[in-house]
Amino acid sequence: MSDGKRDTLATIVAEDSALGQAASAVDQLSAHLPVAGQPAACPLCRADPWPCPRFMDAAARIHAAGVGLHELIPADLHPMLWSEPGQR
Ligand SMILES: [Zn+2]
Repeated sequence: MSDGKRDTLATIVAEDSALGQAASAVDQLSAHLPVAGQPAACPLCRADPWPCPRFMDAAARIHAAGVGLHELIPADLHPMLWSEPGQR
């Protein structure tokens, strides 16, 4: 994380699992996460404050697939999305 970008990794899941069905949305969601220390800005959608529309679109697709968003978003960003701890 030396340049502020978040480290990412690739993983393998079954295509016919809930997470597999949401895989493209997870990729989109992760691409539109703010860099560490700049939680109000999307690195790709500079014109929009974060959470940007493409992040919200991905979040909606992931939620619709039955996958929990909390586990896909770094904890330091949770206060930006959920005002109460544990609220989903
Ligand atoms: Zn964005």
